[in-house]
Amino acid sequence: MQEIYLDNAASTPCDARVMAVMAPLFAEEFANPHSDTHAPGKRAAEAVEQARGHVAELIGADPREIIFTSGATEANNLAIKGAARFRMKQGDGRKRIIAVATEHKCVLESVRDLAQEGFEPVILGVDHNGRVDPAALRDALAVPTALVSIMAANNETGVMQDLSSLGRIVKEAGALLHSDLAQAAGKMAIDVRALDLDLASVSAHKMYGPKGVGALFVRRRPRVRLEPLFSGGGQERGLRSGTLPSTLIAGFGEAARIARAEWQADDHRLTALAQQLFHGLRERQTPFVINAQEARRLPGIISLRLPGAPATRIMEALPEMALSVGSACSSADLAPSYVLTAMGLNPTEAAESLRLSPGRFTTPADIVRVAELLADAAQRVRAERSTQ
Ligand SMILES: *Cc1c(COP(=O)(O)O)cnc(C)c1O
Repeated sequence: MQEIYLDNAASTPCDARVMAVMAPLFAEEFANPHSDTHAPGKRAAEAVEQARGHVAELIGADPREIIFTSGATEANNLAIKGAARFRMKQGDGRKRIIAVATEHKCVLESVRDLAQEGFEPVILGVDHNGRVDPAALRDALAVPTALVSIMAANNETGVMQDLSSLGRIVKEAGALLHSDLAQAAGKMAIDVRALDLDLASVSAHKMYGPKGVGALFVRRRPRVRLEPLFSGGGQERGLRSGTLPSTLIAGFGEAARIARAEWQADDHRLTALAQQLFHGLRERQTPFVINAQEARRLPGIISLRLPGAPATRIMEALPEMALSVGSACSSADLAPSYVLTAMGLNPTEAAESLRLSPGRFTTPADIVRVAELLADAAQRVRAERSTQ
């Protein structure tokens, strides 16, 4: 039974070119990149700085604005808690922190955790297409606000927020603007200057790099100040202590370099694969609904509802297909996706929704099989349920 991997939104495979760059750093160029007393240490540091340049270029930043972390979860925590705590320490009176209801759990929980420190979390709702209402954002900003976090593209639905117009509203109100770019970076055009971002989080394993490494963009002009999360040796401009994983970082850099050169080609291919899938399902008379149909979406994340066929049953019927019902983090619990619920889907509709996320290595032949398998499974599940 040939497996088909359709869960690239949870994690992408490492590109072979990324592995080739990492291989020598595991065993040969293993020195501590902070050991500047010898040549091997300096070479490891050079590999880190080269990678920093590639990651910066991918999002239009200066290399000095890139702080390496263990991933986007840490970057989001550092951005939100670090900025809030620094402002509090300076005696800044702005206590409101705003995030969107469909943000990743690590953003929502960071914002909510700050309530214990005297901040006021405000969670903005979204419309049926997963988008933030600019007027609601403006209303929320009527109270002096420290920081607003708005993701560029959602990990369950692929929905892109209109970050440039929402960002303008945030900046007019004088709040800091953070964006979780974990799904967007390397998949769509992102320029931290054009978007006027203060803080932005990225992750290597969502762009065909290794797991366990990511970065936080921290704007230099005007400089955004953060309180670090960790005490230690003061690496990464004092913002993130700990020995840098030079091997993973070199892989991240290569993944970012490739993404910058190839994201448009990937995007065209994924758009064609999505169309092929929808066509294949229609050909087989399989009723389906695309969640957030009217929003601009990443072509590689499809939130697909098969009416009358619960997603958990579809997944049981198709062990050869790796897909999920929502984000990887929440798929273990039985509660319907909070992202889809925030968009106004009722619990049944949310439970009938699958997340299909093809990636760089998905082929048209895979999609032919996916359409066949899904159409068959949907029909079987619906038939079983109607005879129960
Ligand atoms: C995967 C993901 C994260 C978490 O990234 P890690 O590097 O796995 O910690 C955060 N936000 C979004 C939108 C994601 O897709």
